[in-house]
Amino acid sequence: MQDLTSLKDLLAYPKHIVITTHHKPDGDAMGSSLGLYNYLAQKGHHVRVVAPTDYPIFLHWLPNNSEVIIYTDKKEECEKLVLEAELIFCLDFNALSRINELGNVVRQAGGVKVMIDHHLEPEGFDDYRHWTINACATAQLVYDFIANVMGEKGLINKDVATCLYTGIMTDSGSFRFPSTTPEVHHIVADLISRGAENAKIHQMVYDNFSENRLRFLGHCLLNNLEVLTEYNTALISVSQDLLRQYSISTGDTEGLVNYALTINGIKLAALIIERPDRVKLSLRSTGDFPANEICKKYFDGGGHRNAAGGHSEGSLEQVVDRFKSILPEYKSLLLI
Ligand code: 5GP
Ligand code: MN
Repeated sequence: MQDLTSLKDLLAYPKHIVITTHHKPDGDAMGSSLGLYNYLAQKGHHVRVVAPTDYPIFLHWLPNNSEVIIYTDKKEECEKLVLEAELIFCLDFNALSRINELGNVVRQAGGVKVMIDHHLEPEGFDDYRHWTINACATAQLVYDFIANVMGEKGLINKDVATCLYTGIMTDSGSFRFPSTTPEVHHIVADLISRGAENAKIHQMVYDNFSENRLRFLGHCLLNNLEVLTEYNTALISVSQDLLRQYSISTGDTEGLVNYALTINGIKLAALIIERPDRVKLSLRSTGDFPANEICKKYFDGGGHRNAAGGHSEGSLEQVVDRFKSILPEYKSLLLI
């Protein structure tokens, strides 16, 4: 692993740079990527953001979103960009499997790979690393990279600040998860003073539901929520048919799992969704309960202790049953 400060020399002259992030990018993935984009572009670099897949419409207003290319839409163009890039920034993921087929392209690419991330257990494909699990968001690490590694806080303009604020806001659950340290609040205050319009950003991300999305949420809470009191667990399962019935698109299910966790006493919440290719799980937990352990051990996934994800073969019903069958193993932890 190379010393991060030597990146300053590499970035001293215009370079061809690709920034990429995990598949189905969320607010932190896009906020950190476009935040870094808006910083590097000011320095005269030729930068493109390559997203492995599409991402929610409520993130399309981010400054310079038009510079993002989606791999599944334009594979050849994206592969060319990645293979020709002198530097490849990998944001908000640390294993190449998280970017699907694009992972092999990044692996083959000759460019210098810089990983900026806050997930457990980096795989080790990177040449440079700005990584800690103690950051509430990758956007926090991008802020630290610009301000302290590069020493260019002055380049955090309104566009950069807006993107980084969005990343921190979304990954910290609007500044309420335990990862929201005093330092995070100081950073956020600085981002607001540099032009991030906090009230507007909150509105753009959270008060931007389609009518269908809100009705879908109502349907799920009324009909698809199962509370397993004996395990302090609540789960919501969603079929393809239901997704079609409400014309649900990327991002519309984001946040749904958190509702299951709002029930008094619930320690573990699961959202189990039937996707076209496989069943996807999202787990959320409170306190020390290791949601990521369940995802890693049983669902080919991972994540943070309190927010993790994975997937499984089989029908929706089979995966729901499988999830329930795991709970007795964790009963003592769930009942603490
Ligand atoms: P979500 O439930 O919102 O999809 O993901 C929650 C957290 O779990 C995120 O931090 C994400 O990075 C991680 N995660 C989600 N799905 C996977 C997966 O399939 N593999 C791994 N390693 N992590 C995942
Ligand atoms: Mn993140």
